[in-house]
Amino acid sequence: MHIFFATNNLGGGGTNVSRFLIHLDKIKTKHIGILLNYYYLNPKIKKSPAFDQDVLKKIFNYSDIKEFIRYVKQIFIGKDRQPENISTAIEDTIKHYILDSGTGNILRDFIKENGIKQDFLSGFVELYLQFSEKLKFDLVVALDYALKYTYKDDEGESKIYQELSKEFTNNEKANLNILETTIKCIKANNHSQKIIAPLHGYNFDSYNNYLAEVLNLEAKEKYSFYGFGLGGIADTRKLKNNLWGVPESFNQKMKSHWLISQLTKNISKKIDKRELHVLGAGNISVIPLISYLGATSSDCHSAWRRANDGESKMLIPLISSKLQFIDNVNSWEYIELSEIQNMNCDCPICREYNIVMLKEMIESGENEKFYFAKILIFIHALYQYDYVISYCEQKSNFINDFLSSPNNGINQLYKIVLNNVK
Ligand SMILES: [Zn+2]
Repeated sequence: MHIFFATNNLGGGGTNVSRFLIHLDKIKTKHIGILLNYYYLNPKIKKSPAFDQDVLKKIFNYSDIKEFIRYVKQIFIGKDRQPENISTAIEDTIKHYILDSGTGNILRDFIKENGIKQDFLSGFVELYLQFSEKLKFDLVVALDYALKYTYKDDEGESKIYQELSKEFTNNEKANLNILETTIKCIKANNHSQKIIAPLHGYNFDSYNNYLAEVLNLEAKEKYSFYGFGLGGIADTRKLKNNLWGVPESFNQKMKSHWLISQLTKNISKKIDKRELHVLGAGNISVIPLISYLGATSSDCHSAWRRANDGESKMLIPLISSKLQFIDNVNSWEYIELSEIQNMNCDCPICREYNIVMLKEMIESGENEKFYFAKILIFIHALYQYDYVISYCEQKSNFINDFLSSPNNGINQLYKIVLNNVK
């Protein structure tokens, strides 16, 4: 089974982020979970004042993230952060919560100030583990640095390669140090949550090497992580084609689908059926590919951004609630609401609210209607995720079905990607 985690930056991101939580009861799906961010969620960590600080401070009174979310919903409903006459149930059916650290940058800053002092690092790691364990997160992404492999475009290939590989070696050492500290804290304090170790690299080989180092560390410490995460691939435009061996004829779309697929395959065959989470890169059209190649979960912020940034964009579905292909124009694309004429979707959101109603709410000039419409557009996208994942789960030959969908663009993309995954 694959789980897709929708990102919610409660405590950061302002206005509409907290409103979304009120409507979790509208997500009646098996495969959708919520990814929360330690950096925003813990008001003791974030340096600048968090949005809804008073609510967030109460998090320390709770011993289950689901209970805390129920409390948050009640508070926000009390504050009328939804249109009148909308019925909301406090209980919802979301079963999966994952905690991501989001602390890459903050950790980097602290270490710049303090140097890598082992006591400091242990203290930080232990607090994170305690926080995630107390709140009973189902999965926890281990702390590490957010690695960004940047380069200047005017530098020659060999110079870029040298600099990246030098930077990677340094980062790799620091990250292995944090993972080792994580294992030591887990053992010293008998933590039992399911930890995902993030992996990074600047090409396929460095990913493999880093995984080998983590597996060595596990053997040395006699500890096994619950699973692994593929990091640093959320935006493949930033990844250098030559370093990754991207075929010359590929456009950006082919590149991102192929790269994420190939990396998923490479890593999944080396981790003996353990969990594999694709960090930040779980776009809808990549879901069947990564499910097929061994990823057990993913997250992605695109659907939320598309619904909320500028003019709302709606995800055009390819799969219906009955797990049949739908012949829509622009399937799996995000299209501006004003440009959508006919769109077939039988998700619960579209059955209750049609395009005209959504447009009216957005143009109503009323704050709560405006925000609510955007949340509905987002939840409609989450249903599409659920239907696509259900399709992959229930149809044994699903990957071939996506080669002959009603959408020729998708068929061609899948053909090219699958032909090039080695
Ligand atoms: Zn829909």
